[in-house]
Amino acid sequence: MKRAIGIDLGTTNSCVAFFDKDELVVIPNKEGSRTTPSVVAMKDGSPLVGNIARRQAGTNPENTVFAIKRLMGVSFESEEAQEHARSVAYHLVRADNGDAWVELGGEKLSPPEISAMILRELKASAEDYLGEEVTEAVITVPAYFNDAQRAATKAAGKIAGIEVKRIINEPTAAALAYGAEKEGERKLVAVYDLGGGTFDITILEVLGGVCTVLSTAGDTHLGGEDIDRAIMSELSRRFEEKHGISLLDDRTARQRLKEQAEQAKHELSSAIETDVTLPFIAMDASGPKHLEEKFTRIELEALVSSTVEATLGPVKQALADAELKASDIDEILLVGGQTRMPLVQRIVEEFFGKKPNRSFNPDEVVAMGAALQASALSGQNDDILLLDVTPLSLGVETGGGIFTPLIKRNTTIPTRATEIFTTSVDNQTFVPIHVLQGEREMAEDNETLARFELTDIPPAPRGVPAIEVAFEIDADGIVHVSARDLGTGREQSVRVVASSGLSEEQIERIVEDAERLRESDAMRRELAELKNQATALIYSSERAIEAAEGLIDEEISRKVAGDIENLRDLLETGDAIDLREALQLLEESAYQMAEVIYGKENEA
Ligand code: ADP
Ligand code: MG
Repeated sequence: MKRAIGIDLGTTNSCVAFFDKDELVVIPNKEGSRTTPSVVAMKDGSPLVGNIARRQAGTNPENTVFAIKRLMGVSFESEEAQEHARSVAYHLVRADNGDAWVELGGEKLSPPEISAMILRELKASAEDYLGEEVTEAVITVPAYFNDAQRAATKAAGKIAGIEVKRIINEPTAAALAYGAEKEGERKLVAVYDLGGGTFDITILEVLGGVCTVLSTAGDTHLGGEDIDRAIMSELSRRFEEKHGISLLDDRTARQRLKEQAEQAKHELSSAIETDVTLPFIAMDASGPKHLEEKFTRIELEALVSSTVEATLGPVKQALADAELKASDIDEILLVGGQTRMPLVQRIVEEFFGKKPNRSFNPDEVVAMGAALQASALSGQNDDILLLDVTPLSLGVETGGGIFTPLIKRNTTIPTRATEIFTTSVDNQTFVPIHVLQGEREMAEDNETLARFELTDIPPAPRGVPAIEVAFEIDADGIVHVSARDLGTGREQSVRVVASSGLSEEQIERIVEDAERLRESDAMRRELAELKNQATALIYSSERAIEAAEGLIDEEISRKVAGDIENLRDLLETGDAIDLREALQLLEESAYQMAEVIYGKENEA
């Protein structure tokens, strides 16, 4: 039987899991990590995905795409897109259909295409691991994702060669993995999700396998990165105090500092103290400067407690919207890598007066829930029944520009509603219909899903024709519209513009191109990886030679310089085999040099 996988396509990191007999398994990527950074880059004409893309970001910022999820199903003019454009180094462009696309390696790509690159990588990891082709998946999205964002996610799956069996909400997936649906009684569950750049809180009611989102709130610009930034500025402040040099002005130094800050943060989730060391991070007339700092959990907590406490605002909002008190919540589920931080757990526990459930890895639990749902949908596991609700009301524009909801938010999906439309003047032959999604009173303040006309209405006095329009939200939360003339019984064709921002034909074409280019992509990619490594090693070795002047024998530094030149010559034209060899030589000689330098420094 075909296995279907579960995918958490995250803003910062993605994760893939599958259900095996009665066990949930997280699938590691090529590098052995259980989550993969949601980063895509183009380097020397080759696509890079994941850690390797993330690592080269500092030297290739304009062609490295972070956080593409923020652009899924979003128009170029929207506030989200404009704000995003200001905060990233890559360029956004306005597509013909008004969507925000991305310029990458000189090409204009839609957000679903970029996301598909990440999905393809996860699919490949799963296929490596399982030793079989994987073509079916359940993918998760935030509870507040609208129709266009869900459709875009589905399109991304299709482009990646994945049949998306179902789109489910991230908090619902978490509840499912935690087994919240098992218990027979009604349970109120709070899913507290603090990821890399976003915070979401969702209150769910779980009863007999039906998961209802009672409310959802959050802050789309609050997450682990804010904590990293606080650590960075603290470390650079200390460094500047000692050496009078600012690390934040230099791009390479900044990038290295950022990586170390995040690493220190991770370590302080289990240790109470850590050493941050960044050798050769700066240089002045008196020689190279190293950053060496002790950093403690207490210092970290003092630095970021207000950031973490800021999550409680949306938590209170969500409780108020659901008309509940903190003490009404039966179970608190922690989701998102940042909730591994003890301070986060403490603040959540204090607020709810209850220990949160931490029996799963918070950065894997969403993928696990998706995997459970995937196994149920592919018939490998019939224990599970899980239903989601629509996060936004669906309706039409009526007289005076008013928004009239037909399906209220929080209705369990799939669901369907019908409405009878008629004419407002005699012998009118068509009726325009404007379909919208949102919670605002006026149509113009909500999101337009489609505009269409009911046509060919037989001549009749006004108010006589009766055309029934059915609005349907499918299990993925995606909207379908159909219409029937009740007088003639004729089906009206309704053309709803594909809201993923890509037409079916466009998607097909992208899929075919990708198939064709896959093999050459893999080779170009390997070459690009080697060139990355080579560039980084050349850079650090050159700095080390400068720094080591007077400390080492000329013979060694000549050898290193020679190996650098050799490698540099191959950078432009060399093939993978030559490059790998030259890289190894330089690694060896640079290593020798480092041994001498550090040996000397310790003596001194
Ligand atoms: P997203 O849902 O945004 O894709 P994740 O759930 O993977 O992201 O969370 C990513 C964030 O979690 C990052 O800021 C990362 O630094 C943080 N994180 C991961 N592991 C730890 C840890 N052990 N301690 C503290 N923070 C962590
Ligand atoms: Mg997440």
